[in-house]
Amino acid sequence: MSAIILDGTKIAQEIRSEVAEEVKALSSAGVRPGLAVVLVGHNPASEIYVRGKVKACEEVGIYSEKLTPPESATTAELLVLVAELNRRNDIDGVLVQLPLPPQVDSKRVLLAVDPAKDVDGFHPMNVGFLSTQRPGLVPCTPAGVIEILQRSRIPIGGREAVVVGRSDIVGKPAAMLLINANATVTVCHSKTQDLPGVCRRADILLAAIGRAGMITRDYVKPGATVIDVGMNTVTDGAEFRKFFAGNAKREETFRKKGSTLIGDVHPEVAEVAAAITPVPGGVGPLTIAMLMFNTVKAAKMRRSIRVGELSRL
Ligand code: NAP
Repeated sequence: MSAIILDGTKIAQEIRSEVAEEVKALSSAGVRPGLAVVLVGHNPASEIYVRGKVKACEEVGIYSEKLTPPESATTAELLVLVAELNRRNDIDGVLVQLPLPPQVDSKRVLLAVDPAKDVDGFHPMNVGFLSTQRPGLVPCTPAGVIEILQRSRIPIGGREAVVVGRSDIVGKPAAMLLINANATVTVCHSKTQDLPGVCRRADILLAAIGRAGMITRDYVKPGATVIDVGMNTVTDGAEFRKFFAGNAKREETFRKKGSTLIGDVHPEVAEVAAAITPVPGGVGPLTIAMLMFNTVKAAKMRRSIRVGELSRL
């Protein structure tokens, strides 16, 4: 058996088109949603992520503004900047790109973002809204996971879901969303006993670990749906061959770039699972699509515009 590949790129594109329609409708009613992205210093990975976010805004018609305080910025300076963005009526979403430089108290800065503009969904107020099933802003990557499942018509209610990883950004909110969707959820982490045995209970297995190819076929019940959130870069030739020997396309990319992206799930799992998200092209593209979705949701919620079809999360 070979698993159905859940095409995240296509689903993300669907969401972006829906968001673009909403932006058009809002703009013609005089409301243009706006996103401010704060990028401190010159972290190369952060610069790439922020470029992707700004480009996505342009594509769906969201106003975007990039603020670039220097690497030397202090906590106090960033608090002033965030307060100003909180006050501005043309800004619906405030995103502070992590990591912040070591001299900055990141938690304090994130806590200062107005929860109504917290499009990352990291503010404790939004965490509380999610866990008590109140309307709020949900972290983008876990929200994207639920979109993949729902839009692929994979039932969640009443099924066993196992989440490997308990981070505030992915594992915990994903588990909460699955509970809210009526799954029976187990959350695993580095201290979990008999991880393969626990994972084999899953109808839906979600890996958010940060360890290349850790989830092998022994962890997967035949017929399960496997969602791979992991994004790991492999640069070592021997490690590459362990996962991709004989995969001509991957071998070509690896030869050209000297690296390749792999999830937390071993490629062999595609032989056991019924459905699986690829890496790249699975969960990854959903993250920015859901950021666009959250910015529009924030624009509507702040103005008490009735949250429409899109906003069922
Ligand atoms: P994280 O904060 O490092 O959390 C990793 C979690 O995995 C922790 O809960 C950790 O357990 C658990 N873990 C680590 N080793 C384990 C092991 N051997 N057995 C069982 N559990 C283990 O990472 P994260 O931010 O959640 O990210 C996870 C992965 O998702 C990374 O690869 C990241 O790059 C990727 N990611 C992708 C997107 C996307 O857009 N696709 C977005 C965010 C993150 P403990 O809590 O016990 O330490």
